[in-house]
Amino acid sequence: MKEAGVYHWQSEGGAKKSSVDDMVLLTKITEAAITDNLKKRLMEDKIYTYIGPVLVAVNPFKQLPYFGDKEVEMYQGVPQYEVPPHIFSLADTMYRNMLIDSDSQCVIISGESGAGKTVSAKFIMNYITKVCGGGQKVQQVKDIIMESNPLLEAFGNAKTIRNNNSSRFGKYVEIQFSRGGEPLGGKVSNFLLEKSRVHFLNEHERSFHIFYQICAGTTPQQKEQLGISSPEYFEYLQQSGVYKVDGTNDAQEFQETLKAMQVMGMSDETQNNMLKIVAAILHMGNISFYEENNAAIISDPGYLEFPAFLLEIDPQQLGHKLVSRIFDSKWGGKSERVDVTLNTEQAQFARDAWTKGLYSRLFDYIVEAVNSAMVTDANLISTGILDIYGFEIFGRNGFEQFCINYVNEKLQQIFIELTLKSEQEEYHAEGIQWKPINYFDNKVVCELIEEKRPPGIMCILDDTCATMSAKSEGADEDFHRKMESQVGSHHHYQKFTGGFIIKHYAGNVSYHIDSFCEKNRDVLFNDIIEVMQHSQNAFIRGLFPDVINQASRGRPATAGSKIRTQANELVTTLKKCVPHYIRCIKPNETKRPKDWDEKMVKHQVEYLGLKENIRVKRAGFAYRRPFIKFLHRYGILTRETWPAWHGEPTQGIIHILSSVHMDPSQYQIGHTKVFVKDPESLYMLEECRERRY
Ligand code: ADP
Ligand code: MG
Repeated sequence: MKEAGVYHWQSEGGAKKSSVDDMVLLTKITEAAITDNLKKRLMEDKIYTYIGPVLVAVNPFKQLPYFGDKEVEMYQGVPQYEVPPHIFSLADTMYRNMLIDSDSQCVIISGESGAGKTVSAKFIMNYITKVCGGGQKVQQVKDIIMESNPLLEAFGNAKTIRNNNSSRFGKYVEIQFSRGGEPLGGKVSNFLLEKSRVHFLNEHERSFHIFYQICAGTTPQQKEQLGISSPEYFEYLQQSGVYKVDGTNDAQEFQETLKAMQVMGMSDETQNNMLKIVAAILHMGNISFYEENNAAIISDPGYLEFPAFLLEIDPQQLGHKLVSRIFDSKWGGKSERVDVTLNTEQAQFARDAWTKGLYSRLFDYIVEAVNSAMVTDANLISTGILDIYGFEIFGRNGFEQFCINYVNEKLQQIFIELTLKSEQEEYHAEGIQWKPINYFDNKVVCELIEEKRPPGIMCILDDTCATMSAKSEGADEDFHRKMESQVGSHHHYQKFTGGFIIKHYAGNVSYHIDSFCEKNRDVLFNDIIEVMQHSQNAFIRGLFPDVINQASRGRPATAGSKIRTQANELVTTLKKCVPHYIRCIKPNETKRPKDWDEKMVKHQVEYLGLKENIRVKRAGFAYRRPFIKFLHRYGILTRETWPAWHGEPTQGIIHILSSVHMDPSQYQIGHTKVFVKDPESLYMLEECRERRY
């Protein structure tokens, strides 16, 4: 046990009934009691609470004093129940479990936008990189892992109305370790960057941080080279009119970004190329059009010069490809290429497709650069940290929210499968005495979205895109009609004029059908790719390795099918690991400390399924092990079972458990595994084991 002093920041004040560290211990398990417990704790600056091994984290919206080196020290190697709940404890458990069992671990961090997922992910990376050993070479891996955060955030995060530093992409970071626990490498997978933010901003929101950083942080010399002035000058940034974010210093963060690039091993030249692309995108956003006889004309060709200069492409080509496009048309079985002029709307569309295509390729490049800086070919054990954009409901929701919320459904599904469903199924399979608990299984919602047969929404969307005309007229309406006939009667679907509602596990969301098809098709036109492939700049050419094959015009993967594949791959990866969970809760919309929005918290408690989670945990068993593994680990506790037990495994296990006087109500022996009820009983076993060594 640690000395009492370590509890000082958790000390109970007054005579009020105190809160519980682990909600399994609540006397009443209702949503109100859970909410109340979390509130009491937040008011005392205790943001962490357990439900068994699941960590519930409430966003305090202020810096708390217990994340320093002292706490890193204090939580190292100490069982969860001997110290106040803390994210470091969860991180420690992950790390130790990985080493003890040689099993890869993962932590799934969920919660709505602004609930504290990204901050949690960083605490975990920080803790693990601090406690794992290693010398010089290993330090480099640690630096890359830590510095990948500011770099990816600069390019992938933005201010939204929900969160000033909202992740606009999802990421899964794996840190790979030797069997001895040294980090030897790592891997980042990214999911669906919300690239439309490059050209379209909602009110009160900003584009990706990097755009403001280059305006604020570049040297006068760089400003001249990049043609950068204040953000107001750029149409893409000017449209929302928000340039500053409370508590953020863009100039300073730009220095952080540059430092991070350095740590990734990006040369000065590469860094410069990246900044040129960022600036070129802003300049391209200033190109505007007017229409004459249904054809778009560039308002001021002077605006072509600078982006073309930065991208090292021909300004005339740039202009030409903004207002016209080559279509393949089929006449009497013969295919012919025709250069067709675009109208203003189409020209704007081409410009924005160009800039967001460029940006997302740059983002992919960055992720790849991070990966190649820490790649290792050894087959290692790992801890993975999943930080994905949270469930989102805005005033107006489009294709992006649809994809984001779909991924969140999938994560909820894993949570249900691994904590609620499989837990109960396992008791059943093992013949353990058990009273089943009901919960809402969101599998039906996942199916409504991703099912192939009968086709779910994504399939219907893909079908519509496959047959839509190049100019995509009427496609969204077509999609809307098809949905009505194919999923119209689904309980979680409802149509309205111009859109549809999905009853998600976390609430009802209305999606506007507008641009669903175009965004799903997500093509960067071949003409544009060809122009970029003719850039004089090798770095830029490298971003466009596409092979354009006129003969075989296979259908490229749609955005929807990509995210579906990624989500399912992610599920497969996560299922191979021992999972841990952090459920983040956002206590208010004001982002102020100690501001408690009862209704809002209760809603989250409900849809996160915390009540069911507590019920299952309370009736359940904290620990389970196959007979052989148990004997292997605890055989040392008795003379009869060490170095090996030759009899019936269950007899050996019972022998061990009775030798440490474990209460028989504390365990059950199943068909293949032994189940231990309370974590305390497990720690007792562990302590006995340590005394033996
Ligand atoms: P999410 O990733 O879930 O959208 P973030 O992790 O970005 O949310 O958190 C949003 C903001 O809330 C952060 O920028 C920070 O200001 C605040 N915040 C979240 N967690 C904490 C914490 N543990 N301590 C202090 N502030 C926090
Ligand atoms: Mg985030």
